[in-house]
Amino acid sequence: MKGKPLLEVIDLGKKFPIREGLLNRVKKHVHAVSQVSIKIYPNETLGLVGESGSGKSTLGRLIMQLIKADQGQIIFIDQKLNELSFRKARQFRKKMQMIFQDPLDSLNSRMTIEQIITEPLEINRIGNRLERREKAKDLLDTVGLRKNILDLYPHEFSGGQRQRIGIARALALSPSLIIADEPVSALDVSIQAQILNLMLNLQKDFGISYLFIAHDIHVIHFIADRVAVMYLGRIVEIADSKELKKTPKHPYTQALFNSIPYPDPIKKKKYQPIQGEIPSMINPPSGCAFHTRCPSVMERCRKELPKLRVLDQEERHEVACFLHD
Ligand code: SF4
Repeated sequence: MKGKPLLEVIDLGKKFPIREGLLNRVKKHVHAVSQVSIKIYPNETLGLVGESGSGKSTLGRLIMQLIKADQGQIIFIDQKLNELSFRKARQFRKKMQMIFQDPLDSLNSRMTIEQIITEPLEINRIGNRLERREKAKDLLDTVGLRKNILDLYPHEFSGGQRQRIGIARALALSPSLIIADEPVSALDVSIQAQILNLMLNLQKDFGISYLFIAHDIHVIHFIADRVAVMYLGRIVEIADSKELKKTPKHPYTQALFNSIPYPDPIKKKKYQPIQGEIPSMINPPSGCAFHTRCPSVMERCRKELPKLRVLDQEERHEVACFLHD
């Protein structure tokens, strides 16, 4: 991907303290995100994939500034967000919106659809009541819903319709970037396809970039231009979506592809299946964090931390694994 990135995350880190004992002292930390660097270009979808508990959602929330990073930089539209005053950062955050996994949780059940969609406009003092109502109708139309539902409540809709309402709300301030945190994982497969296609169409029409977070590598492959694979708070592989599916290099990425149910049980799977559970982020394994589950583990993997290395001249495929040193 050429040109200037819309978003650049450099060396981002976040640890959550765990307090214990009578004096409520910090005894341990959850190492949620460690030394993460990613770029998202205009009109691009970067997929972020990994098992539950790999730190994907925390990374999304750090970028949105919903939680404060311990270290690193977030540069969005040429501005270092973590160095801006709260007021100035708010101006830029308008251009960055989020959609969530469970729209019923994220949409206030006591608000009407009109109130939900127009709330960001009201907070930012955009338009008068009538203008905002008209804008809400347009947004409903954009996401494929009827315009006459403004006075209804979220519980009167299906999961897919609620996700469309969540997307309409996210579009209200004309964002450049949407962080979509597992937006289709709570939906039926047929509805998933409709929401994914809607997001692709919106990208075409409005030039939006997405950080699309999911645990299902199939969904990620469908929607993303490039994919970052996350394991225990670190990025272990980044590549073009097609390239990643064709030649995944990291044993974890290979295991993720292998974990998808195969349509032909007689046909052999290409890669070793993933072993065991994801380790705790409180006490992550030494060296390569994947060494406790890796079928290709070597002695040095237990002691040294592999760094992300570029594999090709175009610098499009990076992997953190000693097998590709
Ligand atoms: Fe496996 Fe070692 Fe590569 Fe980690 S560095 S993925 S343990 S081979």
